[in-house]
Amino acid sequence: MQSWVDEIKGKVRISEVIRRYVSNIKISGDRMYIACPFHNEKTPSCVVSDERGTFHCFGCGESGDSISFVQKIEKIDFKESCKKIASWYGINLVSNKFEKKDKNVDVFHKINNWFKENLHNNLQAYKYLKSRNVDLDLIKNFELGWIPSFKEVKSFCKSENIGDFELNEIGFKEGILKAFQNRISFPIFSSKNVIGFGARYIPSHYEGSGSGFDNSSTNLEKKRSFIGAENVKSFSKNDANAFVRPKYINSPETKYFKKSKNFYGLNQIKKFQPIALVEGYMDVITMSKRSGNALACLGTSVSDDHINMLKNFTNEVIICMDGDEAGNKATKRILEKVMCHIDGRLRFYVFRFPENEDPDSFMNSNENGWKKILESKEDFISSVWRLFMIKRDSPEEYYNDFKMLMNLVKKIPDQELRKIYASKWKNIWSKEMYENNSRQESYKNSYGGYNSGKRSKYDKSEFSSGLKNKTAPNLGLVYEKALISIVLRFPEVFDHIEEEFLDVAFSNEMKIMKESIIDWIRGGKDVDFFTKKGLDSVVDDCVSDKITQILPFMNYKQFDEKIIESWRFIYKQMKARNK
Ligand SMILES: [Zn+2]
Repeated sequence: MQSWVDEIKGKVRISEVIRRYVSNIKISGDRMYIACPFHNEKTPSCVVSDERGTFHCFGCGESGDSISFVQKIEKIDFKESCKKIASWYGINLVSNKFEKKDKNVDVFHKINNWFKENLHNNLQAYKYLKSRNVDLDLIKNFELGWIPSFKEVKSFCKSENIGDFELNEIGFKEGILKAFQNRISFPIFSSKNVIGFGARYIPSHYEGSGSGFDNSSTNLEKKRSFIGAENVKSFSKNDANAFVRPKYINSPETKYFKKSKNFYGLNQIKKFQPIALVEGYMDVITMSKRSGNALACLGTSVSDDHINMLKNFTNEVIICMDGDEAGNKATKRILEKVMCHIDGRLRFYVFRFPENEDPDSFMNSNENGWKKILESKEDFISSVWRLFMIKRDSPEEYYNDFKMLMNLVKKIPDQELRKIYASKWKNIWSKEMYENNSRQESYKNSYGGYNSGKRSKYDKSEFSSGLKNKTAPNLGLVYEKALISIVLRFPEVFDHIEEEFLDVAFSNEMKIMKESIIDWIRGGKDVDFFTKKGLDSVVDDCVSDKITQILPFMNYKQFDEKIIESWRFIYKQMKARNK
């Protein structure tokens, strides 16, 4: 039973549990106060501490942990309460109970200890770790070890009465064990037990720095070659084809180790502090050396389970993928995943490493690296915008990116948060469009026309002119429809632009709308005015997506000064064109 308590307390924050029952919550600094559900109160006076895992009510004296909280509120017994909480957070109490008696816990432990001892006798591995700036403290904290030859491992196991059955169960089938031989071991922990291993190959000729050995910090791409050991052919010690050896391998999936449910670094994590999400073993280790706090997903993408686990360790996650194209892609995938988990409790940030640097190399060359990361992390809104709005080659593609982003926002479960995020990104979009228009105008003034001057590769500042080219054949008509649709959407604009509006030389196709709009506005803006005049199809045409997509402010909820400026801008474009 104690193992149940450990398991729940190790994986679930009391504040998470309490939020399921209590909505009247006040946050003050690091503390959370709730309106006590055990006595009648309106002002929260029950304090909840994630650090201690307890709650205490100053009003009625009720106190306890997450399990007793659920017990009291649901009027159920201890066991039922544990099961209930476990079911919410995907904790398998049955297997945990089993794990407690499971002799494989000892098998893992014995083997890990033996690996650790072996490292003391392996100068080559020591030199290698030293070259990666891994000192004795780090070796001790992360329990790094050395896995000798297959034969030696087998004979050790024999001496300890560890049979093939146990080895199979912990993921060391013969072929896999062969892939693990002659490597540095990185034990992977659940909250406190070893549940698997990662292992790093070092070449047999390794003699310290200057050997021409390519380490990950100078070659980010190769770091990603770490794969599950089940996919690795076994190699003899002096294999001439050493270059086909993956640098990193990790245990195959077993009943103890699940890639989508485990992190590397869990045993060293400082809870309730910001956590960096990194790619590799060395990233975690070097982060910790610089007082950082990091976890790595093991050769797999971030899963929903990973994110749910993070919620119990921290409020703040900083995505720290490598500074290369693959790292950007990984960040993008994580942000996409995060979208379904936005609930205001876990905040996500991105830290952008300099080109071709990873957390390991960055931390090694920056003594204050962790401080730098905390200070200059990029917020969620900006990082999503940067990574999702990239196709600037053509206005259509750029607009498609925007539409895809708006679709992604729909994944945010909370309706209000969804609205807030959508409006944040819509605002950036509007701002960009508006700035582009202004820039375009000054461009025009200085060069005397859009088609003069050099137009090299398409970039953001030429967004509008790019659009202009695409729609060139009907541009005059597009402008007219745009002017009309703005007035239809925001009739308030009319007072400001009446003079110019009357001045517009509309084409025959739109002349009828010019007259009708004036009548419509002066006549009190009847809702069925245009229908009565048989102008529905013309109105639809003016407010169609084709037109409104170039007018981002059409999404504005309220009339705004910018709308007047935009109307005038289009008007001036038309005038210039008709000259
Ligand atoms: Zn109370």
